[in-house]
Amino acid sequence: MKKKTTLKDDISSLSDRYSRQVLFAPIGIKGQEMLAKSKIAIIGCGGLGSVLSSNMTRAGAGTLRIIDKDRLELSNLQRQLLFDEIDVKKKTPKVEAARNKLIKINSDIQIEAIFDEVDENNISDLIDGFDLVLDGTDNFKTRLVINRASVDSAVPFIYGAVAASFGMIYNVIPGSGVCLRCLFREEPSGENALNCNTVGIINTAVNIIASIQSTEALKLLTGNRDAMIKGLINIDIWDLSLDIIEIKKDSEYICPVCGDNDV
Ligand SMILES: [Zn+2]
Repeated sequence: MKKKTTLKDDISSLSDRYSRQVLFAPIGIKGQEMLAKSKIAIIGCGGLGSVLSSNMTRAGAGTLRIIDKDRLELSNLQRQLLFDEIDVKKKTPKVEAARNKLIKINSDIQIEAIFDEVDENNISDLIDGFDLVLDGTDNFKTRLVINRASVDSAVPFIYGAVAASFGMIYNVIPGSGVCLRCLFREEPSGENALNCNTVGIINTAVNIIASIQSTEALKLLTGNRDAMIKGLINIDIWDLSLDIIEIKKDSEYICPVCGDNDV
């Protein structure tokens, strides 16, 4: 006869898989249980998205919804850690290849793969009921679409961008006063629109930006919201420089996104 499991057994098996993470005092059993109930939408499954989804899967998030419109190409393998040459040969959609890998890593969590482009028409449905949106995109236009939906739906959004050897991270927390539009009032264009197609990219830069985003996500989802970084994080892994720029609400500026929402 199969032994009936108790809550104690459940916690014991939970902490076995996650024992090293649970030992980390700011998370503990309570944080781990909160994480296990969390729902995270990851938009973009390239370099950043690979690391974000791997970290969240291994850490034990409850549900991941991964959205991306691209199929794999050979130039992706230099930095997109979830994929291999077979995926490229088959031209598999990134979300499908990602899900196939992730369910082998952790079969306890729900992983949904959506092969689609995110735009202003579908974003609200895609993040409805979720606790967090993680930015794995590669363009500012999509980030602004996510930012608006994040503000309108009061779903936190962790922005991350990377090119060459540097990148930025910012936590858009509804209620905190400054959204991504407040930070970047003009859309970057011309030589300011840096991306991996114009200035290249090294894989270590991708990994560190996504790791910082993942850490901020862990704080948010394990009851450590107060520990989240409040400024704009700038990091360059080539010269190992790190700045956190303090961001204050500008009372002169009426933000077209959060101005009326009292973010
Ligand atoms: Zn704003």
